[in-house]
Amino acid sequence: MESELEHTLPGTLTWSHSGCPESQEMDFLEQGDNSWPSPAVTTSPERTRATRGVKASRWTRQAAVEEVEPPGLEEGAQARPAAESARQEATFPEEATPLAQAVPLAGVETSPSGWDLLLPDCAASEVGSSTGDLELAIEFPDPEAWDGELEGLGEDRPRPCPSPQAPLLSLSWDDELQKPGAQVYMHFMQEHTCYDAMATSSKLVIFDTALEIKKAFFAMVANGVRAAPLWDSKKQSFVGMLTITDFILVLHRYYRSPLVQIYEIEEHKIETWREIYLQGCFKPLVSISPNDSLFEAVYALIKNRIHRLPVLDPVSGTVLYILTHKRLLKFLHIFGALLPRPSFLCRTIQDLGIGTFRDLAVVLETAPILTALDIFVDRRVSALPVVNESGQVVGLYSRFDVIHLAAQQTYNHLDMSVGEALRQRTLCLEGVLSCQPHESLGEVIDRIAREQVHRLVLVDETQHLLGVVSLSDILQALVLSPAGIDALSA
Ligand code: AMP
Repeated sequence: MESELEHTLPGTLTWSHSGCPESQEMDFLEQGDNSWPSPAVTTSPERTRATRGVKASRWTRQAAVEEVEPPGLEEGAQARPAAESARQEATFPEEATPLAQAVPLAGVETSPSGWDLLLPDCAASEVGSSTGDLELAIEFPDPEAWDGELEGLGEDRPRPCPSPQAPLLSLSWDDELQKPGAQVYMHFMQEHTCYDAMATSSKLVIFDTALEIKKAFFAMVANGVRAAPLWDSKKQSFVGMLTITDFILVLHRYYRSPLVQIYEIEEHKIETWREIYLQGCFKPLVSISPNDSLFEAVYALIKNRIHRLPVLDPVSGTVLYILTHKRLLKFLHIFGALLPRPSFLCRTIQDLGIGTFRDLAVVLETAPILTALDIFVDRRVSALPVVNESGQVVGLYSRFDVIHLAAQQTYNHLDMSVGEALRQRTLCLEGVLSCQPHESLGEVIDRIAREQVHRLVLVDETQHLLGVVSLSDILQALVLSPAGIDALSA
C-alpha cells in the first residue's frame, strides 16, 4: 500500500502553491510528522465527479506509528514529555475501581476490523443520516437558505473593531461558494469517516470521576495530554471530559489572593467539581462514532464550541480516539491537495473575510494572569493576542498556557503578568505566528498546518492587531459553509 501511495500521491503538496497539485510540495508529510501513517489513496477512473476521485483509507501496519503531538505548539508553547508507548492509559484514584474491568484499556489497535482496511465508498447521502447512538442531532438547513445564512454570519459576529483597516466579511466569499468545485472539501469530508482520520495508535488518559481534581490536572501535565474522558464507575459510562477549560474555571472560581491557598483544588474530587459547576444540569457527553463522517465531526466540534471530540466505539462504548480541529485540518490538508483546487484558495484572507476581525478579545502584556482567565471565562475564546501599550502584538496567551500553572505549581500566583508568564514558557517561540491580510487562504492554511497551531494572529506591517484566523473559521468556511450551515455563529 505504501508503494501505491508513492505512485498515487504527488511528490509535494501545499495549498498555497498556485500550480496544479502535481507540482506541489508535500511539506506537511515530510516534517517528521509521523502521526499520519501512509494513506492508501485510490483513484477511481469510473468516477465522473472529480470531487469524489480521492479516497483516503486507513493505513498499513508497517506504517503504523504512535501519534505524539509536538511540544506544546497547538495552543501555546510548552515542552511536553513524549508519549511513552503505543497504548491507552488510565489514571485512577489509588483505590482500584471497577473501571479496569469495565473499560478494556484498548491496546494499539483501534481499528474495528483490522488493518489495511480499504473503506467502501461512502456516498454523500450518508451525511445527515442518523448518527445512531450519538446525541448529535444535526439538522441541515435548506440550501435555499444559504444567502440568509451568510448574512447571519456577518450579523452575529462581534461588534465593530476599532481598527479602521479591519477587513469585513466580503460578499465575494458568497460568490466564491457559487462557483463549481467550491464544495470539494465539503464532499470530501462527507465521504470520509472519523475512522479514516484516527491515528493507528495514540495515548489516551482516562480519569475516574472519584479522582481528586488536583491529581487529575497534574496527571494531564505529566502525561502531556490536554483532555481526558471521565469515567463514572457508578454509572459505568463516560460522562464528560476534563480539559484545560476546567482548570481555568476552577482557578477562576476559587482563587482569592496569592496568600490564600486554593483548598478546593486540593480537596475536591472531579465529581464534586462537576456537581458544583454544572449544578445538576449534566449535559450528555458530546461524542461521535468512528462510522460517522468527518463532516459531522467538524459540525460537532464547531456547533458545541468544543476542542476535543471523543470517538466512541458504538458497541463497547470505549473511547477510541479524541478528534480535534487540528487533526481534521491535517487530514484535509494532506488529502485535499489531491483534489481539484478551488479558486478561493488563491483569494486573500482580507477579501474572503475568513476569521474574526471585530470585538477581539486581547490582553495587555502588563495585565495579571487573573485578567486573562476572566476573559477566557467571559468570552469563551481559546487564545488572547497579547499587546503592548501601543497596541502591537507581542505574544499569544492561550488556554493551553494556563496549564503551566499546574505544571509549575504556581496557580497561586495569578497576579503575575501575562508578559512574565510568556517569558517563563518552557519553550519560547520566536515571535507570534501571524499572517497578513494580503496573504491567500491557501498560504494561511499551509502555515497553520505546518506550524501545527490552532490559529494565526492577523496583523498589519507594524504588528498591529487586525484579527484572528482560527481552525474553527477555516473548517467552517471550507466544510460547513458550502453546505449552507453556519455552526460558528449559531
Ligand atoms: P477557537 O475557539 O479558537 O476555535 O475560535 C472560535 C471562534 O472565536 C473563531 O471564530 C475565532 O476567530 C474566534 N476567536 C478566537 N480567538 C479570539 C479572540 N481572541 N477574540 C475574538 N474572537 C476570537
